[in-house]
Amino acid sequence: MINVTRSSMPSFEEYTEEIKDLWDSHWLTNQGVKHRQLQADLEAYLNCPHVTLYTNGHLALENMLAAYDFPKGSEVITTPFTFVSTTHAITRNGLVPVFCDVNDRDYTIDTDKLEALITDKTVAIMPVHVYGNLCDVETIDTIAKRHGLRVFYDAAHAFAVEYKGVSSACFGDASMFSFHATKVFNTIEGGAVCYADDALVEKLDDMKNFGLHGEEGRYIAGNAKMNEFQAAMGICNLRHLDAEIARRKTAADRYRERLSGVPGIRLCAPQKDVKPNYAYFPVVFDGYRYSRDEIFDRLKAVDVTARKYFYPITNSFDCYRDFPTAGADKTPVAAYIADRVLCLPLFAGLETADVDRICDVILG
Ligand SMILES: *Cc1c(COP(=O)(O)O)cnc(C)c1O
Repeated sequence: MINVTRSSMPSFEEYTEEIKDLWDSHWLTNQGVKHRQLQADLEAYLNCPHVTLYTNGHLALENMLAAYDFPKGSEVITTPFTFVSTTHAITRNGLVPVFCDVNDRDYTIDTDKLEALITDKTVAIMPVHVYGNLCDVETIDTIAKRHGLRVFYDAAHAFAVEYKGVSSACFGDASMFSFHATKVFNTIEGGAVCYADDALVEKLDDMKNFGLHGEEGRYIAGNAKMNEFQAAMGICNLRHLDAEIARRKTAADRYRERLSGVPGIRLCAPQKDVKPNYAYFPVVFDGYRYSRDEIFDRLKAVDVTARKYFYPITNSFDCYRDFPTAGADKTPVAAYIADRVLCLPLFAGLETADVDRICDVILG
């Protein structure tokens, strides 16, 4: 049986060695020694001035937006071709998601359609580096500056991706990573906000701890702290990350070799000047002799689980039906791709023989 993903883990011995001191200190959470070390390790790895850690990526996204105190009802331009966490993070902050379509090349926000959606209520753009494909960060930056908007990236898929040698952590006002078990780099559950603004450090640290600053209650906020066991997992996994990405590359290259040039099968082209992380292997079945759903079922029949990701798109969710810009028809490219895309299994340690078995089913 092959699942769509399999979490990267250090050896049992490496992890137990890493958590051993916790039995001496009895310090399990609240900015402990592992938390501080992982934060420093990540700031170095990403070459990013500030990294704030969270118990999961979603709360990182919510806190990132909350820190800017936008007036309720302000609009945030985003895309529906994402995991619903992106959209919920906006809405749960009392802000209104405005859905922009994606482009047909890498399924990130279509910068040609972005500016038309800006109104006097728009405060920010929240694009998504889908599948680890980087958004057009330069054009987004230009548009944002022209209109005085903030830019927050949902970079959940893009850990370790670089553009012209600069980490994906360093674009926009802030970027969020998810360290969920299914992501390229995991802390079991976990997440981070990465940013350059020194003034945000204290605020984000307070906000993830009930808004408390010492005894002073500064903000109305929840609890989103990463604990020591999560941080220890991250410290271990980070040591092996580059090797794990290299193993993912081997599998991804094999898929590409087998599936590229097949009529009716579309693959994302490697992006110019981008160092990829091989997080996902999305395939779009567009006029192929089997539909996406047929391929999904044929794989399922031989115990291979692929994932219809992202399907459905978030502007077609019931809970967003009554929002002014909802409706999949308003984002036709996203709707079209969502009906045809399938993410094939991809993880470090996926054997070439397994990739071949999957490709045989698709091409058979
Ligand atoms: C995984 C993911 C999230 C949420 O992260 P969690 O760590 O699972 O809370 C948000 N956005 C996208 C695009 C994701 O893939």
